[in-house]
Amino acid sequence: MEFIDCVVVGAGVVGIAAARALAKAGREVLVLEAAEAIGTVTSSRNSEVIHAGIYYPKDSLMARLCVEGRRRLYAFCAEHGVQARRCGKLIVATDDAEAERLAGIKARAEANGVEDMRMLTARDARAMEPALACTAALHSPHTGIVDSHGYMLALQGEAEADGATFVFHSPVERGRVTEDGVVIEAAGETLACRTLVNAAGLYAPAVARGIVGMPSQMVPKEYWAKGNYFSLPGRAPFSRLIYPVPVPGGLGVHLTIDLGGQARFGPDVEWVDEINYDVDPARADSFYAAIRRYWPGLRDGALQPGYAGVRPKIVPRGAPAQDFVIQGPAVHGVPGLVNLFGIESPGLTAAIALADLVVAAC
Ligand SMILES: Cc1cc2nc3c(=O)[nH]c(=O)nc-3n(C[C@H](O)[C@H](O)[C@H](O)COP(=O)(O)OP(=O)(O)OC[C@H]3O[C@@H](n4cnc5c(N)ncnc54)[C@H](O)[C@@H]3O)c2cc1C
Repeated sequence: MEFIDCVVVGAGVVGIAAARALAKAGREVLVLEAAEAIGTVTSSRNSEVIHAGIYYPKDSLMARLCVEGRRRLYAFCAEHGVQARRCGKLIVATDDAEAERLAGIKARAEANGVEDMRMLTARDARAMEPALACTAALHSPHTGIVDSHGYMLALQGEAEADGATFVFHSPVERGRVTEDGVVIEAAGETLACRTLVNAAGLYAPAVARGIVGMPSQMVPKEYWAKGNYFSLPGRAPFSRLIYPVPVPGGLGVHLTIDLGGQARFGPDVEWVDEINYDVDPARADSFYAAIRRYWPGLRDGALQPGYAGVRPKIVPRGAPAQDFVIQGPAVHGVPGLVNLFGIESPGLTAAIALADLVVAAC
C-alpha cells in the first residue's frame, strides 16, 4: 500500500489553500479531487466578493479569518497578478427600521477590526451611486471582487512549486483510522496517510461519516441552502456592490459586479434536499421586488436566469447562523484527521488564513 504523508480531500479553494500551506510547511501533500479540475463546485458558484468581515459575531472564526484572509488575499493577488478590485460596497437601508440596523452593523464590523466603515445620508449615497434609492447607507471601502479561478490557479501553482500533487477523477470513497493515521480508498486505490484533511465542502460530513473510527456523533448533519443568481445584460447601473440589510440565512439579494463589469443579482436562499444547479426562472418574481427597493430603475423582464451555488450549512433553516468548524484531533480525538465543516461564505475570502489553522490543527 502506498504511504503519503498528507492527503487533502477536495480541490476547492479551501483544499487548495490547505495544500499550499501544508506543502510550504514541508509536508508531502497529495490532493484527491473527485471532479475533473480544481474549483468546479462551490468555489466557482459564488459572488466572487472579497468580504471585509462585517457581519460575523465578534471573535468567531468567520470574523477573524475573514478580516485576516481579506488582507492576505489582496496582497496575494497583487503579488501573483490575480485580478482583484477594491471597488467598495454600500449596505443600503430602504426604510427607517433598516436605517436603525445600520448602526449595529457598523459597530459589529468595527468590533471585528474592519477599517474605515462610514455612515452615509441618502444624499451622500446618491452622490456616489446616482441610480440608488435609499434612506441611509453604510460604506465599506475594503470590500472588493476577485477572479476566483485565477486565485485558485495561483494557489495551486504555489502548492505544486512546493511539491504538492493534484490528482483528479479521484473521489475518496471510504477510510478507516489506524494506529499510524488514516487508510483511504479512492478510485480503486488504497492509500495510507499520516494526516487526512477533509475539505470536501458540501460532502465533508459524508466523507467524515465514511471513515471508520471517526466518532459519528461528532459529524454534523448537512443542510443545503441554494443561492440563485440572475444576471443583468448590458451596463451595470452601479460601480460599487450594493447590498440590502441582511436577511435570515444569507446577505439578501445583492448586486455584485464581475471584473468584466457585468452585473448580477443574488443569491437568494432556497433550502433544498437535493443538489442541482438549475435556476428556476419563476424565482425572478421575488428578485424584482427585492431589488426595486433599492433600484427602482429595474425594468420588467430585464433579469436573466444566471447560475446557482449551494451553501454547505450544518444547521437547519431557522437556527442561529453557524461558524466555520475546523475539527482536528484536539476536538474529536482521532490523530491525523482534520475535518472542515460549514465552510460557507466568507470561505473564498478567508481561505488563506483558514489554511494556517488547518496546518496548526494537524
Ligand atoms: C451562493 C454562494 C455565494 C458565496 N459568495 C461568496 C463570496 O462572495 N465571497 C466569499 O468569500 N465566499 C463566498 N461563498 C463561500 C465560498 O464559495 C465557499 O466558502 C468556498 O468556495 C468553499 O470552498 P471549499 O473548498 O470548502 O468547497 P468546494 O469548492 O465545494 O470544494 C470541495 C471540493 O471537494 C470535492 N469533493 C467532494 N467530495 C469529494 C470526495 N469524496 N473525494 C474527493 N473530492 C471530493 C468537490 O468536487 C469539490 O471540488 C459563497 C458560497 C455560496 C454557496
